[in-house]
Amino acid sequence: MATTTSINPYTGKEFKTYKNHSKKEIEDIILKADRRFYSWRETSFTERKKLMMAAASELRKNKQEYAETMTQEMGKPISQAIAEVEKCAWVCEYYAENAEAQLQNETVKTDAYKSYVRYEPLGVVLAVMPWNYPYWQVFRFAAPALMAGNIGVLKHASNVFGSAMNIEKIFKKAGFPDNCFTTLLVGSDAVESIIENEKIKAVTLTGSGPAGSSVASIAGKNIKKTVLELGGSNALVVMKDCDIEKTIDVCVQARYQNTGQSCIAGKRLLVDESIASDFTAKLLQQVRELKSGDPMDEDTYIGTMAREDLAEELEKQVNDSIKSGAKLALGGKRQNAYFEPTVLTNVTKDMAVFNEETFGPVLSVTTFETIEEAIELSNTSRFGLGVSIFTENIDEAEKLAFQFEEGAVFINELVKSDPRLPFGGIKESGYGRELSQHGIKEFMNRKTVYIN
Ligand code: NDP
Repeated sequence: MATTTSINPYTGKEFKTYKNHSKKEIEDIILKADRRFYSWRETSFTERKKLMMAAASELRKNKQEYAETMTQEMGKPISQAIAEVEKCAWVCEYYAENAEAQLQNETVKTDAYKSYVRYEPLGVVLAVMPWNYPYWQVFRFAAPALMAGNIGVLKHASNVFGSAMNIEKIFKKAGFPDNCFTTLLVGSDAVESIIENEKIKAVTLTGSGPAGSSVASIAGKNIKKTVLELGGSNALVVMKDCDIEKTIDVCVQARYQNTGQSCIAGKRLLVDESIASDFTAKLLQQVRELKSGDPMDEDTYIGTMAREDLAEELEKQVNDSIKSGAKLALGGKRQNAYFEPTVLTNVTKDMAVFNEETFGPVLSVTTFETIEEAIELSNTSRFGLGVSIFTENIDEAEKLAFQFEEGAVFINELVKSDPRLPFGGIKESGYGRELSQHGIKEFMNRKTVYIN
């Protein structure tokens, strides 16, 4: 019998061991999920709204408990874990309030007596999700999916099965009918046959490029739609006319929150040469003050990384870049799964910390002389999730937005997800959108109705 053990990355000790679902159990769960679809899609928006609001209340009521599981499984500082649970409540409330209006029939004037588009749910959608925001990544899929009348089956990352079980429990406690949302306790080797199951109608994945590519190939072979939210290497473009103090605050948060393990983190700081020395000195001072420590302490800002192998990978990227000429301005040391907040300067395009995704607390600093050079440096990345531009000249920045090959441009703000705005990337960051009215329509049949 296969089992999965999650290790608390701060203590290095076992958190819990789970019995994996067998092939037979997986098939049974999917069968029941499919059966549930036919009654769930008939429920009214009023009924779904009541249940989704109850899920939000449950999240808020027991946020400490849910946050603690995530902190112990993947090392997220507890105050950030609580904020994540609260954000999940927000997305539940957002879709509870807005789904009905977002999915109204759209009348289209044609030659017909009457023609319109109806939004109809597809059925059971598989979500393959990562460990970095163990609740948020799932809720931003589940809240719109369930409100739209779809059914969710979750294959969560193997180190956060406790969070995965909690999410199933939250929907159950909120009163959702059985099998509306189920967690499969399986490794990634089981995903192929799950996608091939005829009752799975579509797949959403958040995670690395290789995982996305594999899942999309299998889904493609089986003619099933996918939404992919993959890695990113966002630039923070700092112009010489920015408000330096405010910009530093935002850049530090953009890079170091969640211990740097975010697809939308600002990983590459591009700063105008003329202010680079002053800006970097002040930034280093602020990064030095970030408090590392026990993730269960409320005032810890930098926890451990989620797994030791991820910290080792980051260490290799840092060391390779130093060998290629980057200057270690701060940090650089690893102890088990803990990685010091690190800043590398003199970084150039050919270095690992610039051209690969760094998924941890490491900021690379590169200077530019002209805005054209900054745009070129930003666009060199094979990723295209988002970019932040810092300047007092908002009009100019807004004109430049078009030139960045990204899913999002944020001016004087870090790239962040908000239930009201679409979220997703281009290039190797993936395709499709989550959140807002765009996200809820990804797994819908846009049915044309034509009456003469
Ligand atoms: P993965 O992409 O491997 O894991 C994400 C999810 O995909 C997990 O549920 C995982 O399951 C599953 N998975 C992995 N490989 C496959 C596959 N071939 N077929 C189907 N499912 C698969 O992330 P890692 O944990 O290995 O992290 C590696 C790197 O990925 C990070 O350093 C970062 O660069 C990137 N990443 C990006 C994220 C984002 O938000 N865009 C989130 C997490 C990671 P299992 O855990 O069982 O392997």
